This record gives sequence, C-alpha cells and structure tokens, in this order.
Amino acid sequence: MNRTQNRTFNFSAGPAALPTEVLIQAQAELLDYQGTGISIMEMSHRGKIFMALAAEVEHDFRELMAIPPNYKVLFLQGGGKGEFSFIPLNLLRGKNQAEYVNTGLWSTGAIKEATKYCEVTTIASSEDRNFTYVPDVSGWKPSKDAAFRHICTNETVHGVEYFSIPEFDDGVPLVADMSSHILSRPMDVSKFGCIYAGAQKNIGPSGLTMVIVREDLLGHPHAMTPSVFDYTQQAKHDWMLNTPPTFAVYLAGLTFKWLKQNGGVEAMGKVNAAKAKQIYQTIDHSNGFYRNDVAVADRSQMNVVFFLRDEQHNAAFLAGAESAGLVGLKGHKAVGGLRASIYNAVSPEAVEALVLYMRAFAAKLA
Ligand SMILES: *Cc1c(COP(=O)(O)O)cnc(C)c1O
Repeated sequence: MNRTQNRTFNFSAGPAALPTEVLIQAQAELLDYQGTGISIMEMSHRGKIFMALAAEVEHDFRELMAIPPNYKVLFLQGGGKGEFSFIPLNLLRGKNQAEYVNTGLWSTGAIKEATKYCEVTTIASSEDRNFTYVPDVSGWKPSKDAAFRHICTNETVHGVEYFSIPEFDDGVPLVADMSSHILSRPMDVSKFGCIYAGAQKNIGPSGLTMVIVREDLLGHPHAMTPSVFDYTQQAKHDWMLNTPPTFAVYLAGLTFKWLKQNGGVEAMGKVNAAKAKQIYQTIDHSNGFYRNDVAVADRSQMNVVFFLRDEQHNAAFLAGAESAGLVGLKGHKAVGGLRASIYNAVSPEAVEALVLYMRAFAAKLA
C-alpha cells in the first residue's frame, strides 16, 4: 500500500479529501505568504496581494471549466443549501413558477426551499424507485412559462449522476446543483443558465460556494434578496461586496493549479471513470455479496453507494476498513449501507486499496 505522507485514504462525502500536494503547499505558506510575513488569511481582501490572487483563482476556474465570457463567476458563501434559496430569489425575475426534477435527497431539499418563494412544479421524479435513476427526459413535462428549470446533476446521497444534459428549445434557463461533481469531468457550461456548487466536495474547504450565471439572467433579483447573496450586486462588485472567505478562495485556487498540472478536467474525467468502474465491477462481480441499486447508465462516478447482502456485517466492514486505513465509508443515514466518495483528490491508489479490502472482506465471510 503506497500512502503519501502516511495520509489515510479518505472516502468522506464532504467535507472531503483534498490533494495532499495542496495541503503541503498551504502548510508551507501558512505563516508567510509569498514574503509578506503574514498569512493569506490575515490580510485585507482589498489589498493588492489578495486582489491579484482572486483574479487568478477566477481565471483558472474559468479556464478549467471553459466558461464562456457571457457568464459571471461568483465566489460566495452560504453553501449549497443557501443556494436553494438564492436561486429563486435571483432567477425568478418577476415570474412565479419554477420547475424542478427530483432525483434524490438534494433535489428534494432544493424543492422544499423553493416553495417558500414560488410555485414549484416537479416535472419529473425518480422517487417511485427510491431515487435510483435519472428519469428519461422524454417523459418530462416542461412548460415555457417557468422562470427556470432546476436539476441536481449528481445526487451525493443516492449516487445518481446525469451523463447527458437535458435540452429543451423553450428558452427556459437550466439551473444545476453541481456541488458534488463540479470539475470531475468536462461539462458544457453554455447549456446552463446557472450552475452552483459548494466547494467542500470536490474543490476545497467548506465555506465557499461557486456560482456561474449567464449575464442576461442578472438584473431582476427579488426585492427581499440579501445584498451579499444578490448575484447582480455581487457581479457588479467582482464578488467582493463583502469579505469573501479568503482562505477558502486561496485553497480552492491551489486545487485549481493542481488540476491544471494534472491535465485539467479532461484527464480527471478519465481517471474518475476508471476509478468508479473498478468499484462498480467489484460490486457486480461479488456474487451478490455487495449490491448497488442504481441504473447502470446513471451510476455516479463520484459517490458509489453500496450495500452488503447481509447488513448486519456493516459495522465489521467499517471497522476492518478503518484498520486498513480506509475511512469515511459509512452510508448517509437517509439510505443506509455504505458509500465511497471518490472525488478528484481520491487517488487511484486509494481506490485500489478499497477494492482489495472489499474483495478480502467478501472472501473472509463467504
Ligand atoms: C452537500 C450538498 C449540498 C449542501 O451543501 P451545504 O454546503 O452543506 O449547504 C447541496 N447539494 C449537493 C448536491 C450536495 O452534495
């Protein structure tokens, strides 16, 4: 087992693993950021040094995601759940209807929050089969009167991911919660009106939320929108209307550099697909010892949810995993079982170690 710096293999769903190289650099710069004699989190966000850093972080993020110039990028606070409110507040634009697709716990949360602000129509749902698939787009019932159409493109808890982007020709902007798979593979930003993501799954520490929003959707926030969560105002002020979470922005920036050095989202997507395939194959070839219930085409590349045939062995599985240096594998309480979150920073070596452990555990109990 080849473990960098004696770091434990971390399969936590979030906050989640960060690249070891990123943490080492942050550690090296912690007391003295680039000869200033102070740390990055101790200086003004309006000073020359942080302003330059912020511009570079945004630039790298734009480059990695190939974000077209007619989109604003905002680095805000409030988390994914905060966005469940800020999306309707900013994007209803005087309308009273929004459409949501319900594919799991996070879509459900987004719907619940949105109903405070407008009439919500759930135009498709996979609740009938315990959120184990993405409903076929041909069965969705969209209306051109909706202010926006919301999807969660990777359901972190249920382990379901969209591998194609639903498209309708009705001009209704598509909004996506990409919290748990942003930057995991190439995504065509131009197909969306707005994308948001909390950083703590696949990018950096908690406390930072990214919003990518098409410029033509700005300018009509609900009058009650708090200024710091008003996309229009934040865009006008280069997301510095208030103090941004400076250390989180800095760490996200280090992760962006790390991604660029490792071939960007294209390369990352290939590695992530291979990692996921290895675990799903282990599950599928276990003669039913392990089980994954998600439709094969919709299986998440980031969050692999699985169950033991005999669930009374869950505790033994987790304890044995921990002894083998594998942590964070307990399933979310909403679905139970086990879950391996294999974000960008989870190395192929970590996945290899997990798969070896899974096979050994199955062999021992067979
Ligand atoms: C984690 C998560 C959230 C919630 O994020 P918070 O930052 O805790 O509010 C929302 N959506 C998805 C898809 C998530 O994975």
